[in-house]
Order: sequence, then C-alpha cells, then structure tokens
Amino acid sequence: MAAETLAFQAEVSKLLDIVARSLYSEREIFLRELISNASDACDKLRYESITRPELTAEDAEFRIVLRPDAKAKMLEISDNGIGMARDELVENLGTIARSGTAAFVDRLAEDGGESPSLIGQFGVGFYSAFMVADEVRVTTRRAGETQGWRWISDGQGAFTVEEAEDAPVRGTSIRLKLRKDAKEFLEADRLAGIVRRYSDHVALPVVLVEDGGEERVLNTASALWTRPKSEITDEQYTEFYHHVGHGFDAPWLTLHNKAEGRIEYTSLLFVPSSRPFDLFDPARRAGVKLYVRRIFITDECEGLVPGWLRFLRGVVDSEDLPLNISRETLQDNPVIARIRNALVKRVLGELKKKAEKAPEDYAAFWENFGGVLKEGLYEAGDQRETLLPLARFRSTAVEGLTGLGDYVSRMKEGQDAIFYIAGEEADALARSPQVEGFRARGVEVLLMADPIDEFWIQAVGAFEDKPFRSVTRGDIDLSALGGGEKPEAETKAQEETKDGKLDGLIASFRLALADTVKDVRLSNRLTDSSVCLVADDSDLDMHLERMLKQHKQVDTTSKRILEVNPDHALIRALAGKAAEGAAADLVAEAAELLLDQARLAEGEPVRDAAAFGRRLAKVMERSLAAG
Ligand code: ADP
Ligand code: MG
Repeated sequence: MAAETLAFQAEVSKLLDIVARSLYSEREIFLRELISNASDACDKLRYESITRPELTAEDAEFRIVLRPDAKAKMLEISDNGIGMARDELVENLGTIARSGTAAFVDRLAEDGGESPSLIGQFGVGFYSAFMVADEVRVTTRRAGETQGWRWISDGQGAFTVEEAEDAPVRGTSIRLKLRKDAKEFLEADRLAGIVRRYSDHVALPVVLVEDGGEERVLNTASALWTRPKSEITDEQYTEFYHHVGHGFDAPWLTLHNKAEGRIEYTSLLFVPSSRPFDLFDPARRAGVKLYVRRIFITDECEGLVPGWLRFLRGVVDSEDLPLNISRETLQDNPVIARIRNALVKRVLGELKKKAEKAPEDYAAFWENFGGVLKEGLYEAGDQRETLLPLARFRSTAVEGLTGLGDYVSRMKEGQDAIFYIAGEEADALARSPQVEGFRARGVEVLLMADPIDEFWIQAVGAFEDKPFRSVTRGDIDLSALGGGEKPEAETKAQEETKDGKLDGLIASFRLALADTVKDVRLSNRLTDSSVCLVADDSDLDMHLERMLKQHKQVDTTSKRILEVNPDHALIRALAGKAAEGAAADLVAEAAELLLDQARLAEGEPVRDAAAFGRRLAKVMERSLAAG
C-alpha cells in the first residue's frame, strides 16, 4: 500500500517553527525527550501485561537502545515498549493532544519567537527531535498486533504514514537523520554524558550499542524514588521532576518520603517554582503518578491528591495495592484514601514550616499557588484550621503579603471583624471608594482578588472568632473604630446634617432614584469619592453577584444602596442647592450621574450610555458657561 501524506495540526507546525529556531545550546534535550517517551511506553506495556502476560512473554526485559551509525549519520533510539497502532501514530505524532499546550504554543508563536528560551518552560516532547534532525523516521508496532507502521517527516508541515514490513516485534524505533551541524550526537561519550545528565533516573537500562557492537549501560537504571535520599543529588531530583512533572523550572520544594506502618508507600513530590500554564484547567488534574511496587499504574488517579493541591508533581509508589487493580475503582479505594490523607498532612506540614521559617520564599509559592490552595478552604472542611494560617493576602496596611494572624494583631480597638474587599485585581481594589474611610482611620482591609475568595469566605465565616466582613456590603459604623481618632471632617458633616440640608438632599436622591436603588444614605466609608455603591446586608455581595451572573448561576441583579459622602464638596454644594428648593431638576440629574459614576467605580457599565452622555455634556456645558 502506498504511503499516505497527512498534514500536521496547525499548532504542531507552529511548534516545529519555534523548535527550528530554538537555542543551539538547548538542543541536546531532544535525547531526554525521546528517552522519556520510550520509558513511558515501557511503563504502559508493563501495566498492560499484568492482565495480558502474553504481550511480553517472549521478551520481558524492557530496555532503551541508542545506536549511532557514523557512516549513515543516523542516530536510532529504540524501545520495546507498547508501540503505536496506525491511528495512535497519526494522533500522537501529528497533533498536540493537551489543549492547554496547544493554546500555549499559539501564544508562543504570537510572540514571534522573540523569546526562544520560553521553549524551556513546557514540553516540546517528541517534536524536539527536529532540533537535530533533517528527517525523522518512526517505525513502530503496537504490542500484540501483526501490522507495523512507519511515520516519516522532515518537519515541514506534513508527514507520511505507511505499512512497515521491518517494524520491531513490539515497540518503537526512531531514526534521526542528523543535521550537518549535529554530528556530535554520533559520539559515544557525548551521548553518555547527556544520558547521565538528564536520564539517569530512568528506571530501565539505557544501552548504547557502539559501531563495533559492544554494549554499554549508560544510566543507573533504578527508579529514583527507591534510592536512599543521601545518594540522590539535587540535580538528579530536578531532572526527575522535569521527567515526571513536565516542568522545566527547578522544584520549589522536594518531598521524598518513605512511609512504613499501617500503609507502606514511597512518595516523591515536587512543588514547582513557577505556575504551570494549565493550572486553572477545569480538569484540575494533579501531576502525581501512581505506581504499585515499581510498576506504573496511572497518572490520572483522582483520589490520590485533592484538586486544591493539583500543583503537586511526582510519584507515589504503593506496596499495599494489588497490581491488577482496576484504574476505575481507584478513586474509592481505602488505601488510596489513606495515602491521600497522609500526603495532605505532610505537604501542609512542610508548607507551614516554610511559611514560618522562610516567609519570603513562601510568598513566592503563594503568588503561584495560593489561589489553588484556597480552594481547599472551601472544599475541605476538615483542613480549614490548618489552611487558614497558611493563607496570605494583599492588604491596605502592608507591602507584600500578610497572614490572618498578623491582621488580627493589628486590629483597632473596638474592631470586631476582619474587613475585606473582593474583586478582580488587588491594585484596583486598594483604590476602591469603599476602602477610603477605612484607610483614613487606619483600619486594615484585605484585598481579595482570587475567584475562589468569595466562596471560601462564605464557607469559613470567621478566623479566631473574628467574622469576615465585606466593606462593600451592609452598614458599617466606622465611627466606633480607631480608638476615637475621628477624622475632623466628620464633625463638620454632623453639623450640616443637623441643619437638615443633607437630609433634604438624601430625600431628593431617594425620590429621583426610587426605581433603581434600594436606598440612598450618608456614608462614613468615603473620604475622597463623592459616592459609592454597597450591597444590602440581606443581599449577595456585589462582586460575588457579578461572578455568579457571569456563570449564569443567578439572573437578576439585586438593587444596591447608594452611599453619599457628606464631606464631599460636590455633595455639600448640591445639598445647598437642594435646600433652596429651586433646583429639583438639577438635583435629580446629579443623582443619576452620581449613580452611574458609582457603577463605573465598580467596573460596571452605565445603565443607559446615551442618557449618561447627554447628562455629562450638559454638566460640562454649564460649568463652561459659568467659567
Ligand atoms: P508527551 O510525552 O508529553 O505525551 P510527546 O510529544 O513527547 O508528548 O509524545 C507524544 C505522544 O506520542 C506520547 O504521549 C505517546 O503517546 C506517543 N509516543 C511518543 N514516543 C513514543 C514511543 N517511543 N512509544 C510509544 N508511544 C510514543
Ligand atoms: Mg514526551
């Protein structure tokens, strides 16, 4: 049958362009990627052969073989792993399966390849072969199948697939026709060096077959996590993390632990030092692989690590689970549940230590993963007491991050709640009108900018008996706070309230806005702004409502309360006009404009853009005429 020509998925072509431009010095990693795939392929077959032993009956020794051919300028990397059927070949080596990766490639490509080192941040995987090869030939046979297949490409937009009579009995052989400038990868010592550097942890032998036919095992060939800690270097841990976690940074934290007792397992877990690009993927999958007595079982064991620790990478190797366990029942397995509980405890314990002993380092972790860890406050009721002290926040009172304990220690006399404001972005929140009065009185407000914040706050309610209170909801009497140091303006305002002018203004505003707001009242949370919106005590907080609306969880918006700053020059002038009784129109127009202004400060659109524009123009005309 003739070879069939197929086009790469667009993202793959983009990726190949980037790969072709990538840094010269980085290209040796192609070997790590191909060995990593070969090792995965052997892991997969080992697992399948638990239930189908005939698959490996003839050749039970898994290995990866490197065969340089100096004359032909070819390097061959072969394995006796699971191999690929035709469809798998087309799918796996023609597309990018993970949607997150595809999206990332798009972004990289838009970057115009300005920053080729970015390539180091995610797995280029198989396609990295084109960094050193003009042409790549993959010959493969799926274990247990009769037909073998060959895939050939020069990395220029398309590949061919055809039947192969010379396919290995099982597994995959990848032949690279090395580029002119890549002949170094024919040298035995060069290859040995790369394998030791990047692939020493690979749990099966990587064998170099030299021209004369003599064989050399290049790596230690035992699963890294089974070795004693004292014999593992930081570099080896890092390389293993790259392999297992598809990470390309250095791990922020490495936890290697052997548990003996009621349950026996070894865990080697990493916390990345940078945020993986698919951290907020809805699948919330953690990158922790499950092994049973050194045999790979799955990298999608849902119950092993809770979603709110999904930034973890690594392996768990259980001594207790049966080898023939079905992947489908793992989630409810009591052994898995026990391991999960132990892992959670251990990880949180280590985070606590870091938070106490190395706060700056911990802050870096928090910036990356705090938003994920906080999901645990919502989901894992039993972990709240442990998680709350680990949480860090931006705040109006300090640079950087602060913890709740520190917040409480800074609370003002008479303050009985932890004040916060929730929204999209901390810097914008810090400038919110609703925060002004708190700042003026030295009362600290936490700035909550993660989507999960509103939810865990509802679920948790309080910290050390101090309830969380939103500064954008309900009536808050600030005059009781701050140990009596009331801003001077407050007294002025009170005088004017006495003479009734402000009362009159409020009454006119209420009348003008009767249909659109729940109430209009004087505020003590404003200093610079003239107005702001707050939610009524009995309603949802405004940001929460906006979020729920976005996700179609609620379809109505509750009416808000418009608060008016009694000390603002504009408000006082309006109050004067209102008292004269003659300017009813003007006051009503001003009420509408101020309401829209308050909405804008919330990041909400004005209600009627045309009407808003007309009113604004009128005000400007008037002020120009007056000037
Ligand atoms: P990743 O390893 O991150 O999945 P790669 O680009 O390295 O991405 O590989 C893509 C896919 O191709 C693998 O997931 C695997 O299914 C398949 N593959 C690659 N190399 C081999 C191999 N030697 N044997 C079997 N399958 C392979
Ligand atoms: Mg790979």
